[in-house]
Amino acid sequence: MHDTNVTTLLESRLHAKALELLRKLGELADERGVGAYVVGGVVRDLVLDVGAGFDLDVVVEERGEEFAETAAARLGGSVKAHTRFGTAILVVPGGGKVDVATARSEVYERPGALPVVTPGPIARDLERRDFTINSMAVTINAGDFGRLLDFHGGHADLTKRGILRVLSERSFEDDPTRILRGVRFAARFGFGFEPETERLLRQAVAEDRLSTVSGERIANEIVLILGEPEPWPPVERLATWGILDAIVAGWAVPPEVEATFAEVARLADHVSDDEPGRRAEGETWRVRFLAMLEPSDRGVRNAVLDRLNAGRRMRTLALELARFEDETREIISADVRLQDSTLHRSLSGFSRELLGFCRARWRGTRVAERIGRYVNELAGTATSLTGGDLESLGIPQGPAVGKVLAKLLEARLDGSIGSREDEIELATRLARELDEGNKS
Ligand code: ATP
Repeated sequence: MHDTNVTTLLESRLHAKALELLRKLGELADERGVGAYVVGGVVRDLVLDVGAGFDLDVVVEERGEEFAETAAARLGGSVKAHTRFGTAILVVPGGGKVDVATARSEVYERPGALPVVTPGPIARDLERRDFTINSMAVTINAGDFGRLLDFHGGHADLTKRGILRVLSERSFEDDPTRILRGVRFAARFGFGFEPETERLLRQAVAEDRLSTVSGERIANEIVLILGEPEPWPPVERLATWGILDAIVAGWAVPPEVEATFAEVARLADHVSDDEPGRRAEGETWRVRFLAMLEPSDRGVRNAVLDRLNAGRRMRTLALELARFEDETREIISADVRLQDSTLHRSLSGFSRELLGFCRARWRGTRVAERIGRYVNELAGTATSLTGGDLESLGIPQGPAVGKVLAKLLEARLDGSIGSREDEIELATRLARELDEGNKS
């Protein structure tokens, strides 16, 4: 497999500009007498012929920053950021963005902790990768452009066997986040695990290896899973393989949640059809995370948020969910006619994510129908008068303004007023009443 040349693939799959950039980087590497390669997920996606316009990951057999700085100086680009592993982001005008990393080997001194890193040849760099399908590289040196390096059988695992296979027995122990990465890739490509890899993965879960991983790293992997186009299969596997339970004892996501995921996707598609650009990915993963949290009791929910070191927004959402369950759900599921102003008052304090979740969770019920009415028809309702207008009508600054505006909104929602003139009339009357109230 070592002598496969994938130049034609590179030529057909990459933008002309990106290809040209790779060739220039290869020439530079030749001049500097170092090896340079495209590596990892990019090569995988190239071979699989999926994923449009990827960010390029390049590895060089010297210090990545130095190589990137030299390339930037020559090509008129800039180098953006450095990380502790000697990775630099090279930005070239019109040519996009390339991550340039130092070829390195890694030694894990403590399971779950970050590894000790030393520079090394490309072969060592590929050995530290998570799965065979992610362990291929393509040479970009001018004299050797397009040669596929596949030391671990990644090509066959990817194209013939359709499996995820780790490169060493200790892989999941060294870095247990690979458990979550594996679940994500298996689901994304519809791959199985090679039997020994599955055994090692399950063993790592049973031995509680994830307990050594920081909350941020686990959260990051869950966010990536929830950002997949089809997030349910990996989430289901996290649940059925006891991975969620290993993250926080008692965390379970039952099969019914699948239908909620499906409804979240359906609603998100709807929104993007109606209002292109309104669908924010960030929002969708949070909605899905709520779906993973909701079946648990408050104790487990809080334990999950603590374990994942969740940020303020996610915690606020969990609080919103509790408030919805405790106070709001009953009001909006009642079998009585509900004034629009009441509906508005009940729901206006919740975020779009929370409402999106509840609408999906209680799909087909009055709750979902009313949230739908609120979101689509009421949420955008506004008074035509502003606080400033009220002041010019003689209402003094202060709480009175807020009160009158709330009344105006209520009246507008319930249809008792419609025009600006109606608002002025009602505001004037309310002001007078307030004034009289104050005098008496
Ligand atoms: P995606 O399509 O999801 O971006 P990717 O494979 O490009 O997938 P990255 O997280 O960008 O994912 O990683 C780039 C490459 O770095 C991987 O293909 C793999 O070779 C290597 N890698 C990333 N994370 C790990 C890890 N935890 N352990 C070993 N190798 C890793």
